[in-house]
Amino acid sequence: MSMVLKFYNTLSNKKEVFKPLKKGVVSMYNCGPTVYDYAHIGNFRAYIFADVLRRYLEYKGFKVKQVMNITDVGHMTVDEEADGKGEDKIEMKAKEEKKDPFQIAKEYEKAFFEDIKKLNIKKAMKYPRATDHIKEMIRTIETLIKKGCAYEANGSVYYDITRFKDYGKLSGNTVDKLKAGKRIDVIREKRNWFDFALWKKDPKHIMQWDSPWGRGFPGWHIECSVMGMKYLGDTLDIHTGGEDNIFPHHECEIAQAEGSTGKRFVRYWLHTRHLLVNGEKMSKSKGNFYTLRDLLEKGYDPKAIRYLLLSGHYRIRLNFTEEGLKSAEETVRRFQDFVSSLKGAKQKGKPNPKVKKLVKNVKKDFEEAMGDDLNISLALGKVFDFVREINKVISSGIGNKDAKLAYETMLGFDKVLGLKLDEVRFIKLYVGEKLKFKDSVSFLKLPKEVEKLIEKREKLRKEKKWKEADDIRNKIRKMGYILEDTETGVRVKKA
Ligand code: AMP
Ligand code: ZN
Repeated sequence: MSMVLKFYNTLSNKKEVFKPLKKGVVSMYNCGPTVYDYAHIGNFRAYIFADVLRRYLEYKGFKVKQVMNITDVGHMTVDEEADGKGEDKIEMKAKEEKKDPFQIAKEYEKAFFEDIKKLNIKKAMKYPRATDHIKEMIRTIETLIKKGCAYEANGSVYYDITRFKDYGKLSGNTVDKLKAGKRIDVIREKRNWFDFALWKKDPKHIMQWDSPWGRGFPGWHIECSVMGMKYLGDTLDIHTGGEDNIFPHHECEIAQAEGSTGKRFVRYWLHTRHLLVNGEKMSKSKGNFYTLRDLLEKGYDPKAIRYLLLSGHYRIRLNFTEEGLKSAEETVRRFQDFVSSLKGAKQKGKPNPKVKKLVKNVKKDFEEAMGDDLNISLALGKVFDFVREINKVISSGIGNKDAKLAYETMLGFDKVLGLKLDEVRFIKLYVGEKLKFKDSVSFLKLPKEVEKLIEKREKLRKEKKWKEADDIRNKIRKMGYILEDTETGVRVKKA
């Protein structure tokens, strides 16, 4: 069964069959965070998309070399124009908090790594910082000047986009269109108002470096071209970002990379549509955002947040609501309960041919959906059907071999979903001669005191001391665990 993999390439505006340049290895660059504040869950939609994409490629057997940049200089508050204006986001925050900009970047970079860990986003191969690559950026800018694409003016360097004939091929903002459009810039030293800065002179800027053109700092776009090529080579297989990155950021990345190497920069451009709130883009500037921390403080499960953000197709905008998050929480619970009951199935017996067939079909359907431009909502629908059908088998008694097969199938999907469904929230406590935890190895790790209390409560229950048993249950609840008494034993969940 050959299953094709197709991605919608923003460059061609079509779905294309995906084939990496090097057999079996995929190079992928993701535009990462500007570390001036906590990332909001809109940003995380973009990073979780990149994570699911990577995980699916790995599921299909590719090795993925993934790089995500950390922007710690040059990203301006007004970034809809190629030549970003306003203030450097990091420096703005530094002034607000009366701190050093490098300190700000360090703090929020740390917060970013904490957040992605909570969301179970796999670590990339490399997270290069812009400020660690000033030398490389200067070198590329020099090349662009040598090739006639860029020019120096009063200590700044600009890209003359009339010198790059392909400008606009990604976003449609060609030189002709720009010329016909509204003129926005007033910087006199530029050849064309739409030229954008590669290197900026600004004595007021705090972060400054020496360069052949005097002291200054890099424009935002140059970092991604330079670091992408440094770690992944001149031509990358995949480059991702949110839809707002298409123009100007990615259009400029192409001009810089291809202008300097003469080679194609990126083969497949994939862009995540925005996460919305009440129909508007979730963004810092609009103030309509939730950080991951906001939601965790409200008591939401990070798995549910992850699920919500990945469950809609990436090329369809997703409206965020707390109701949506609550229903995501229920879905995750349902998956967890499913996995847990399969794990608990102990019944011996002949395999049911129906199970094998369901497994075969769901795998095929899952891959067919994911292979079609990562149609995850369709893929999840197939998984739901599978869960429903297997649950029917479970309720009439599932044999341990079938249970294992279904369990492994579900965990296979979870390699892509990243919900850690094997970190089952339950344990079953069997009362035998001695109290013991069955299968505790892969189950939720409990603090020793909690284990002791459960054992004590089981004893009390056997002795029909209900009141004391209830007291212990409440005590355990306060320690963050919920007990459920079932026919097979006690199930423990994290509250
Ligand atoms: P920034 O930190 O502003 O450079 O943004 C980091 C990434 O998040 C970029 O790829 C953006 O395109 C993406 N992004 C920003 N806002 C949203 C949103 N509301 N929904 C989805 N992605 C977003
Ligand atoms: Zn970028």
